Amino acid sequence: MLPGGLAEGLYVHVPFCFHKCHYCDFYSITRQDEGRMGKFVERLLKEAEVWGSSSRISTVFFGGGTPSLLPLEMMRKLLQGLKLRFDLSQVDEWTVEVNPATATLEYCQMLREEGVNRLSFGAQSFVVAELATLERHHEPRQVAESLQLARQAGFKRLNIDLIYAIPGQTLESWRRSLEEGMALGTGHMSCYGLTYEPNTPMAVKKRLGVIKGAEESVELEMLRHTRRRLAEVGWPAYEISNYAKEGEECRHNLMYWRGGNYIGLGPSGASHVEGWRWRNRPHLREWEEAVDEGRLAAVEVEKLSAEQRARELGMLMLRLRRGINYEEFAGRTGMDARMLFAGVVGQMTNHGLLEGDQSGFWLSEGGLAVADAISAELLKG
Ligand code: SF4
Repeated sequence: MLPGGLAEGLYVHVPFCFHKCHYCDFYSITRQDEGRMGKFVERLLKEAEVWGSSSRISTVFFGGGTPSLLPLEMMRKLLQGLKLRFDLSQVDEWTVEVNPATATLEYCQMLREEGVNRLSFGAQSFVVAELATLERHHEPRQVAESLQLARQAGFKRLNIDLIYAIPGQTLESWRRSLEEGMALGTGHMSCYGLTYEPNTPMAVKKRLGVIKGAEESVELEMLRHTRRRLAEVGWPAYEISNYAKEGEECRHNLMYWRGGNYIGLGPSGASHVEGWRWRNRPHLREWEEAVDEGRLAAVEVEKLSAEQRARELGMLMLRLRRGINYEEFAGRTGMDARMLFAGVVGQMTNHGLLEGDQSGFWLSEGGLAVADAISAELLKG
């Protein structure tokens, strides 16, 4: 039996989208009907029963997929059902991802009534041609309209996601999208460099020469501009891709980056509890069968050793602006990060990629561009 009772975070994966964006490799399907969605909600609640009883959750995140594609009454049933199965009385952040093309006032009001207190909208770009390149099916104006509906429904905590380094995007057009995003006043923004995940249509088109990826130097300049500009307006980066006004940081994501315990429900949902790590089957039918038969839908189950866990935590904490704080790290792992990462830190600091003091170490501006490579070094034994 896998441990669940210590979870502080709950992730719910809703694997339905009305269209597949060409860069996306999250698990979702586009062919569904209300019957299957209704059964999906029932199965999620059945799956929740396995983990619910002893967990005291402080953050909840509904991602996907497109959670807001669940019809209103089904979503209400899911929210109410989860509240019966988990102790959600201490939840201080409950986020739902909403598609800007489908948000309605009634839907936002229902979410708010049921305890959701943060919404996240995938804006991606405010340039029509760039949205078309990404195969996103919403119009730029719908982002502002959705945010207005969300505010009308009482939401104060809001996020928009943007993507940079889109084929054909210039530094100038990225600056414009960023300014438009900032003008919406959400206080939190996630800005991701476009990645070409294997087997996505974007990756195939790039391989075939149909599209050309952004030059590395342009992408880096976009990242640097983003960090400078958002810091100027008081939304500094608190993580490599995330920017927020003080107090608006996403607590659920911070829980991941600090090595917290969480349970993931739904196909492809990932879980981590005290060094046990697993993932639900990333396939709706297989997940359905497992839940119907009363089996755990878990695959890729592994128990990390104390050192593996500490190294993984180092890799996650390095994403944060404050990097790896020695005291916090020792509190969570019982290990001294100075000793564990001595070789890497010495080498990377000499190359100007890490900076540090007596309290810890973090990525320098130069290190940001090669953060993944530095993380990989921290993971090595
Ligand atoms: S809406 Fe989100 S989850 Fe669905 S295909 Fe697009 S990026 Fe992926």
